[in-house]
Amino acid sequence: MAHCPNCGGEVRFSIDSQDLACQNCHTHFDPVTYNRTPESMEQDVYETKVFTCPNCAAEIESTDLSATGFCAYCGSAVVFESRIKQEKKPQKIIPFQITKEQCKEIYLKKIRSFYYRQRDLEDPAYLDRFVGFYLPYWLYNYHFGGEINLKGDRKYVRGNYVIMEDYSLRGKLKGEVEGIPFDASLRFDDNISAVIAPFSREKMKEFTPNYLLGFYSEIADTESSGYEKEAFSMLGEELGRFVAGSNGFGTEDIRIHGGINPYSLDREMTVGRGMFPIWFLSYKKRDRIAYAVVNGQTGKIYCDIPIDEQKFQRASLLMAVPIFLVLNLFIQISAESLPIYTLALSFFLIFLSQLQMKKIQERDKEALRYSKEQKKQEETDRKKSGTSFALLALFLSVAILIWHPVRDEYYYIAAALSALASILSLRMMIRKFNVLTTRAVPDFFEKKEE
Ligand SMILES: [Zn+2]
Ligand SMILES: [Zn+2]
Repeated sequence: MAHCPNCGGEVRFSIDSQDLACQNCHTHFDPVTYNRTPESMEQDVYETKVFTCPNCAAEIESTDLSATGFCAYCGSAVVFESRIKQEKKPQKIIPFQITKEQCKEIYLKKIRSFYYRQRDLEDPAYLDRFVGFYLPYWLYNYHFGGEINLKGDRKYVRGNYVIMEDYSLRGKLKGEVEGIPFDASLRFDDNISAVIAPFSREKMKEFTPNYLLGFYSEIADTESSGYEKEAFSMLGEELGRFVAGSNGFGTEDIRIHGGINPYSLDREMTVGRGMFPIWFLSYKKRDRIAYAVVNGQTGKIYCDIPIDEQKFQRASLLMAVPIFLVLNLFIQISAESLPIYTLALSFFLIFLSQLQMKKIQERDKEALRYSKEQKKQEETDRKKSGTSFALLALFLSVAILIWHPVRDEYYYIAAALSALASILSLRMMIRKFNVLTTRAVPDFFEKKEE
């Protein structure tokens, strides 16, 4: 805990005033100069406490907070193990701009637009579990220079003529691009960071640990070399946009073909580290977990929304009644052709549920990599999923159609069987939909041992 020099109260970073504030006497301090000593400026490390979740082995750090009773990653109520660590200072930080209250509003607005959401997702006590995190990012900086050669064209109308002009554009490019960011935490899902991106590099400040007061932070555990290629191609895109824009060749309606090949330039790369702010919330139900993540600078949100199965089933039934009545009014269906309609419907539903299963498998691959136990569980779930019953009903129904009996009753039985297949696969789909909107509870033990 950081103490107020006036009253001894707790000092934290205040998002509203973008400086440090004493929670007790409300004195404000400059985050750059507060507690600054010549020694602290020289050191390239700062002291922090690392909290390890005994349940999933996720680690979070804080310089002043103790860990809360819930692990943000696995959602369990835990007593954290802690140890002191010297952490390397990053170069840059984007301080939080979105307050916890604003973050809750953004979250509520998002989930309230979803009718089938579970009620307890709006519980104020649950919302209070949003925690402020700084995520580590690798920042790639480039100095570059060299000749560029580009092709371009211009098309315009003069009188009755359309005039096409080809251009060969040549120039010298020299400059620097700083801080192309990549998520440096293994634990944090790259798909989520893609959704809440981008962070605006303009608000980036020189790092001091004072910005961390009142928040948690994640640890950088990927190698910076992992993103070098991607960062470099992003540099190429950025330069391409720049050259095609108003500062480059892009004047007088000249259309530039292709982009800049950054490999043709002389360049020098350095990699730094930055801390970017997010609000993080997890929702655990049985063996599944859902995350909500809000960009602490821009308010962009990522959200897994589990659905209320009963609500969904009730609504589907209510919708089925009018559809059935309307069909009855307009289509005279003979007993013989009835099973064809119900069969078509159940084939369609089974096809949809198979697509869904595939998505689930892809989505969970990441989380399951960390958890062998979970994987077994999922596989048995899949087998129990009811596809075989639906297929058996379908098979019988098709058999009756091929048999082609004289009496109508058999067609009604065939229709009823394929309708049953539809209901089974629909029920399965709702279950699976919930699996899709949540994720497997992570387990980082294995990863740590590697
Ligand atoms: Zn004070
Ligand atoms: Zn945990």
